[in-house]
Amino acid sequence: MAKDYYAILGVDRNASQDDIKRAFRELAKKYHPDANPGNKEAEEKFKEIAEAYEVLSDPQKRKQYDETGTTDFNSGSGFNWQNFTHFDDINDIFNQFFGGNFGDTFFGGYTNQPDLDIYLRVNISLEEAYYGTSKNIKYRRNAMCDHCAGTGSENKVLVTCPTCHGSGQERITRGQGFFRMVTVTECRTCHGRGKIPQKPCTVCHGTGTVSKNEDISVNIPRGADTNLKLRLKNMGNSYGGLTGDLYVVLMVSNPPGIKRSGQDIYMEHTIDFPEAALGGEEDIKLFKESYKLKIPAGTQPGEILKIKGAGMPRVNGHGSGDLNVIIKIEVPRHLTSKQKELLEEFRNEKKKSWFHI
Ligand SMILES: [Zn+2]
Ligand SMILES: [Zn+2]
Repeated sequence: MAKDYYAILGVDRNASQDDIKRAFRELAKKYHPDANPGNKEAEEKFKEIAEAYEVLSDPQKRKQYDETGTTDFNSGSGFNWQNFTHFDDINDIFNQFFGGNFGDTFFGGYTNQPDLDIYLRVNISLEEAYYGTSKNIKYRRNAMCDHCAGTGSENKVLVTCPTCHGSGQERITRGQGFFRMVTVTECRTCHGRGKIPQKPCTVCHGTGTVSKNEDISVNIPRGADTNLKLRLKNMGNSYGGLTGDLYVVLMVSNPPGIKRSGQDIYMEHTIDFPEAALGGEEDIKLFKESYKLKIPAGTQPGEILKIKGAGMPRVNGHGSGDLNVIIKIEVPRHLTSKQKELLEEFRNEKKKSWFHI
C-alpha cells in the first residue's frame, strides 16, 4: 500500500513547495524525538513525515509519486535515514526550538560531524549508590562560543565558501589524461560546512567553539548500578553550531564481604554454632540501616536468610531488591574449662541419642 504523503503532511495535492516545507517544519517540531523522549509513536510519526517530506520536497520525486503513486524510491528497501537529504532543515528547526544538538543519538551514523558526545566514567561506592548522592565532576570540553553563538562569525553572518561554492566538497585531480584520478574530499576551507564566517569571531577565531573547563554537580540516583549512563544534555563538545551531550557512566564498587546482583545484595554474617543449633536473633547492619534477623534453629553454614526489600532501591523508584544474608558458622578456637565440660557432655549425649535410634 502506497502511503498518502499529502495526508501525512496535511497539505493538499496542489500545495506549493513553501506550503510543504512549512507543514513539515510544524510537524517535525511537534514529533521531534527529543521533544517526545521515549515515545515510540512520535518517533514513528517523525519518520513518516520525514519520508513524506523527502519525496514531496523534491520536484522530480513528487512528479513520479503523483503519476505512479509509488513510494519505491529507495530500490524497494523502504525509507532510510541515510538517504534523507534535509538534515539542514531539521537542524534548523532543532536549533530554533530546542537549543542545539540533534542527530547523533537518533540517526546513529549520519553526519560527517566529529562525535560530539563525551563519555566520562565516574566511580562511586555501593553506599553512595544505595542512598543516592551528588558528585562534582571536572572536565574540559569545546563549548559553543557565546560571542558568535557558535557560528564562528563576528556578526553571526555566514557566507558561501568560495573554495567549494557551498558544496562542502573539494575535487582533487591527480595525474593526467588516461591516468587522471579525481577524488572528492571534504573542503579544506570550510571543513565540509559549505559556509564560512563573513568576519571571523574575535573570541573563537572562527571555530565557533571555545575550550572550557567545566565543574558541575551530577545527581546520582538511588539504586544506580555499574554502567548506568546519566545524560546531561548539551554538555558535550560543540561543532558547527551543534552541541553533543555528556554521558556520565557509573562504576559502582562493592565493599569487602558484600556483593550485588541487580538490586539484590549478598552479605556474609557469622554466628556461633550454639546459635545456629538453637536459633536466635541477630542484628544485621547494612550501611546506616539495621535489621533484626531471625535465625531458625538448625541453620546450616552457607544458608541464605532473606530480608525482603532491604536491598538496593530500584532506580525507577519502584521498591527495592532483597538483602540476602549468607550465614557463616564459627567454631570456637579457645574454650574455657566449663565450655569444654559442657561440650563433652553434649558429645556424650549425642552418642547416646545416636545409639537409641
Ligand atoms: Zn568549502
Ligand atoms: Zn566565536
